[in-house]
Amino acid sequence: MSPSDDPRTTQVLGAFSDFPLYAPDILAEFTTRARRVLDAPIAALWRGDFSPGHLSLERSWDLSAAEAITLWAEIEDSLDFESPSILDLGDSPWRFRSPAAKRISSMIFLPIMSSQRVLGAMLFARSATNANRFTREDLQGLRLPVQAVACTLENDRLAAKADVMTQRLELLTNAIPLPVCFLDSRLDVLQPNHAFKSALGVPDDFKGGPLIEIWAKVKDRFDNSPEIEARMLDMMAHPETGASVEVTFAGENELHYRLMSIPFLDRHGRYTGGALIGFDTTPERRLMRLQQESIDDLDATVQERTLSLHFANEELRLANEELRRMDQIKTDFMSNMSHELRTPLNQIMGYGSMLKDGVAGDLTPDQDDFVDNILHGSNRVLRLVNAILDLTRIDAGKFTLHPTWNDYPEFLGSVLEAFRPQLAAKRLEVKLDLEPGIRALWFSPEEIEQVLFNLVSNAIKFTPEGGTLTLRVHRSGEGILTEVHDTGIGIPAADQERIFDRFVQVDSSTTRGYGGSGLGLAIAKQLVELHGGTLTVTSEPGRGSCFSFWLAQPATAARPS
Ligand code: ADP
Repeated sequence: MSPSDDPRTTQVLGAFSDFPLYAPDILAEFTTRARRVLDAPIAALWRGDFSPGHLSLERSWDLSAAEAITLWAEIEDSLDFESPSILDLGDSPWRFRSPAAKRISSMIFLPIMSSQRVLGAMLFARSATNANRFTREDLQGLRLPVQAVACTLENDRLAAKADVMTQRLELLTNAIPLPVCFLDSRLDVLQPNHAFKSALGVPDDFKGGPLIEIWAKVKDRFDNSPEIEARMLDMMAHPETGASVEVTFAGENELHYRLMSIPFLDRHGRYTGGALIGFDTTPERRLMRLQQESIDDLDATVQERTLSLHFANEELRLANEELRRMDQIKTDFMSNMSHELRTPLNQIMGYGSMLKDGVAGDLTPDQDDFVDNILHGSNRVLRLVNAILDLTRIDAGKFTLHPTWNDYPEFLGSVLEAFRPQLAAKRLEVKLDLEPGIRALWFSPEEIEQVLFNLVSNAIKFTPEGGTLTLRVHRSGEGILTEVHDTGIGIPAADQERIFDRFVQVDSSTTRGYGGSGLGLAIAKQLVELHGGTLTVTSEPGRGSCFSFWLAQPATAARPS
């Protein structure tokens, strides 16, 4: 006979069919029914917190609490908590001494188990006057009803636990400032938190409902509603995949959310519900917009600047081109003019010299004077033309140096030798102060000769009769400094820089009287600089001047011995 066919089963279960699921005293009710069916007037019921040893007496029938407790203490150690058992007090090993045991002939211990846990236990007993022992059938008949009770109790427990969890969750979600709600498997909104309700503008007592209906009511609140509607519907059509939708709330205050749907899937990947969380992206979006605005501003400024730079560059390029063109015209003109002038000048000077030499017959003293003037004037013009030609070539970058090793003392000697007549004419004393050991120097002889000629001729020109001209040569740094001192008229401080400019002569009646082109120093400076050197002046008006030029020299090892 299967347990369900057992009339005892039906009797006890029949009683349960009327019970509401969460009947609070289901165990007591069960015990009452079972007592009747089992003909067991004595009974006790323990309810536990699911671990053996913690069961506590809840109720007893025909047994005082003290009797039930002592009885339990006696049988506790002899029981296997997890299996029902029949105890016959007349048989060994059940020899109980408690007064309650004396009133009992036979007992059934019935644990209520759910998922290997003890939820409670029942003791049914017949009084000593009833000689009938409990049978295994009695136990069998109770199996199904006990299971039903265990299920109900477990449900009760789980429901209570779920209630606690729900309350905790509600507390937590309400504490979160982000809009949060849960969805069940039918996409019904559950437990929307405060932030969720206020974002959607629904009253605080709003408990939820179908998501699709809620969406239909609130979608006008979103700025990009038509665009996100499709995404929301898509999200609802495939809740199991999860989604993220950027939404912006219409209204005065700029509000952006990233709405995320998070699916909860069961072990088989089926959607059992989910959560909707709105992450506030407003600060992020604001920052992005500000960044974009400043990038745009910057872009605009850069573009503007680039454009004006481009125009400025273009203007500069055109101006440069024009300057280059003008410079070329000037260079061409200067070199053509100089060449053109040199030929007739050479002729004039050639014929003048022939006249002077008496090739065309003897000259009268007047004629001789005239020819001297002609030769003198032509010479000046020729020097001027040559100077202009030199400058033109330097400017055009066509001037090439040809440096060699030169015996400097000898070089200086020959320069001074060339000036011997002028020096003698003005009775100028010449001193050569050469640092010992200076001999071979590396420079382009033609150009340095021109520099020295200019400096020495100026010194002679601007030094009154009887003065002194000193040439000092000494080492300085990685090169050699050559100083040309005179005891002449000197140069005012204000003019000392100017004199190296082209066509500049210190404009005083005294200086004007000396003649010259004002080009000599300009050329000398350029020639020294072409050597990588420097030309400077120090002077004191009335006491004299010193022009010094410095020439870099290669390392000693490179010099010829
Ligand atoms: P210039 O052909 O006129 O001598 P320079 O360029 O050689 O041209 O010299 C420019 C000017 O510098 C001279 O006119 C003169 O005023 C001044 N100067 C040059 N050397 C001396 C010097 N040793 N003493 C005084 N003044 C000088």
